[in-house]
Amino acid sequence: MTKKFFKSKNGNISLPIFFPDATRAVVRSIDTSDLEETKTQGILVNTFHLWQELGGDVLKKFGGIGKFMDFKGGIISDSGGFQVMSVIKSGNVKGKITDEGAVFHPTKKTKKILTPEKSIEFQIKLESDMVVVLDDFTDPKSNYDEAKVSVERTISWARRSKDEFLKICDRKGLGKNERPYILGVTQGGKYQDLREYCTKELVKIGFDGLGYGGWPIDEKGDFDFESAKTIANNTPEDYFLYGLGVGKPEEIVKCNELGFNVFDCVLPTRDARHGRLYVYDAISMEEIDVHNPNFYKFYSPDKERYFKDDSPVSDACDCLLCKRYSKAYLAHLFRIGDFTAGRLATIHNLRFYSILMEKLRLTNS
Ligand SMILES: [Zn+2]
Repeated sequence: MTKKFFKSKNGNISLPIFFPDATRAVVRSIDTSDLEETKTQGILVNTFHLWQELGGDVLKKFGGIGKFMDFKGGIISDSGGFQVMSVIKSGNVKGKITDEGAVFHPTKKTKKILTPEKSIEFQIKLESDMVVVLDDFTDPKSNYDEAKVSVERTISWARRSKDEFLKICDRKGLGKNERPYILGVTQGGKYQDLREYCTKELVKIGFDGLGYGGWPIDEKGDFDFESAKTIANNTPEDYFLYGLGVGKPEEIVKCNELGFNVFDCVLPTRDARHGRLYVYDAISMEEIDVHNPNFYKFYSPDKERYFKDDSPVSDACDCLLCKRYSKAYLAHLFRIGDFTAGRLATIHNLRFYSILMEKLRLTNS
């Protein structure tokens, strides 16, 4: 891939880049200042939640989600489709997917519809640096014909999204250099001919990048690198390749080798709140080798032997937790259930991921 930078409103960011989830305009348990300390260079915000809970007026007053949060890194907004489809599939909210869009009923008397056009319109109000088109998620259990329906709908929605995007940009007078990036999303599940077809059709419509959509884990529970390869092999060199929801550190390393350069995932922050910390298997930051098969392990501060341990969680980390506090203090904070435990663990895990990006950049350069 020839892309070297992700252009944000606040400057260029080197690739690869990892965007932790700031679903509702906050990375849970830390504030923007903590986030900056972790050297995290971008975040992913959620269109569906912010559309429902914040609304366009607040965004207009503040001049976008970045200014609202006072965050000066890169911002990607998702299409909102995954959330709408998950709430529909969970059965808690009634709804269905039609060719028009995702129709749902937040209450018995209300009906809402998330169309490809509405998703783009709201994302442009968010003033994110990359907008993502609404796609029709291929259920991992889909047979070939069902997967084909989701691919055709995804392509048709991508076309509508691109048209709406160009229309809004023209109306707002946004020239080529002022527009956000627009990302297409490939579907097709495990059916490689459908993945290839979807990728090629999206390239014909024209995007700044393509995302690996759908569920990337196969029936055996392994990461589906085959689909990642098919997408990468059919995507132009100057595109971003985005592993949506990817992932585990070792999956990021392998996808980066295939050309993927943008990632987001809930894992580091969710795991942190559950007391699962990522620790490099190294005695210093210089010694970290992300191409070693077992380059990290998990640390959970729940064993009695840690209660008096005055060493840091990791010697190969320069985060607030590792620089200042001991394993024993973190174990104590988790034991008493103080919010600070989640905060410090989140800071640590996000620094683990930002170090991973730094190491990959060195490998790629
Ligand atoms: Zn740390």
